[in-house]
Amino acid sequence: MGYFGNIIDGIKTTAQGLKITGAYLGKNLKTRGNDVFALQYPDEKLPIDKVTHRGLHEYDVDRCISCTLCAKACPVDCIYIESVGKGKSAIMTRFDIDYSKCLFCALCVPPCPSECIVLGEKYSLPGNSRDDMIVKFHEGVFPIQVKSDLAKTMVEEFQDEGLFALKKSKREENGVPTRVEQDPRKNTDLN
Ligand code: SF4
Ligand code: SF4
Repeated sequence: MGYFGNIIDGIKTTAQGLKITGAYLGKNLKTRGNDVFALQYPDEKLPIDKVTHRGLHEYDVDRCISCTLCAKACPVDCIYIESVGKGKSAIMTRFDIDYSKCLFCALCVPPCPSECIVLGEKYSLPGNSRDDMIVKFHEGVFPIQVKSDLAKTMVEEFQDEGLFALKKSKREENGVPTRVEQDPRKNTDLN
């Protein structure tokens, strides 16, 4: 597009924007401000549709078996799962989701054999960097299923290092959150 073409295009899109603004202004004046077009977020929020809404994940580490099926189903590879060991003796060491990549498509939900991951209602995740968009749903180390001696030994070693509590009750005793609703990122008010 040439020089004058750009100017004409600029005028056209500005007029288009003003037309939309004018239409809303007129509508608002007509309804005497009873229709809501803008809210003072975060003090005011629109209600969410609990059936169709797809917000931040809710994840239950207690039921997760670290099978990685959710991560494999994710089209953008934004679920990071790491574990030590194999099969029933595996110990999960990481379960993070990078929300700077997540599409909220929910494709990670159906494959989960434990039904321990769903898209929840919370949607607010403020942050100043891309790293802030990575939610650590599970930090430290947690045994998937402690059945073999090897796993028990590994668990004890990790425990000695103070990295985790062996059972849910123990984690609770130590104030370690077990569910995402309890806010995986300290000092962050997820909505
Ligand atoms: S909602 Fe979609 S993009 Fe987000 S983690 Fe699940 S599968 Fe990946
Ligand atoms: S599919 Fe379910 S059980 Fe498997 S790793 Fe993902 S959340 Fe855990």
